[in-house]
Amino acid sequence: MMRLRLVHLYPDLMNLYGDRGNIITLERRCAWRGIELAIQELTLGGRLDPSQADLIFFGGGQDSEQAAVSRDLAHGVGEEIEAAVEDGAALLSVCGGYQLLGQCFRTRDGEEIPGLGVFDAYTVAGPKRMVGDVIVESPICGEPLRLVGFENHSGQTFLGPGAQPLGRVLVGNGNNGADGTEGIRYRNAVGTYLHGPLLPKNPGLADWLIAAALRRKTGAATTLQPLDDRLEQQANSAVATRIGKTGTRRSSIH
Ligand code: GLN
Repeated sequence: MMRLRLVHLYPDLMNLYGDRGNIITLERRCAWRGIELAIQELTLGGRLDPSQADLIFFGGGQDSEQAAVSRDLAHGVGEEIEAAVEDGAALLSVCGGYQLLGQCFRTRDGEEIPGLGVFDAYTVAGPKRMVGDVIVESPICGEPLRLVGFENHSGQTFLGPGAQPLGRVLVGNGNNGADGTEGIRYRNAVGTYLHGPLLPKNPGLADWLIAAALRRKTGAATTLQPLDDRLEQQANSAVATRIGKTGTRRSSIH
């Protein structure tokens, strides 16, 4: 039986808005295809073997938790995460986790929380919280993929000139509420502000992560066995329809 390992970073500290649902989705979508997903929870003081981490998940947290996690990342584990990403591990990071994988996060109090610099991006706490539903169009799977989710952040993230966003915001704020970008993609690593959890109603992104993890583990391109995603797609459409009626559409795009 194929076995993949997922490392869940700081589940006790970085776990806002049902982010754990992302892990359950990955586990189920693997199991439905006969793939076992072993989950390692890593918290303060823990270490990670980059060669064994096929998938990594890093959820959202509050500023105080992010500061504690940032200090821990400086003790070797940060370099291990970076090595895994450079080697092609699949990674999903949401909100606070996304910010910590960028270069740094400056809080409202002016504190600079260092990030790992895996992503060419930096974050500065802005004057208003960006809260609400989001629709994003992402080119990550080749065909345009509609992602739906919920954002709640004061940090405004700005990408470096060569960085590739996860997608473009159709409704909501995304990275910073100004440039129409949402999230980031570097190698097989994704950063995003979409909570919710994200993956149950965005199965295309879940499968992109699983396929990347399998590719890295086996060294060969893999076509995932298709699943019956009618319920997941209905959830995506229902949310998109509701958000489309009530959300703030970005005028620069439409
Ligand atoms: N503290 C960060 C911000 O507000 C992240 C919050 C979160 O993970 N939801 O920007």
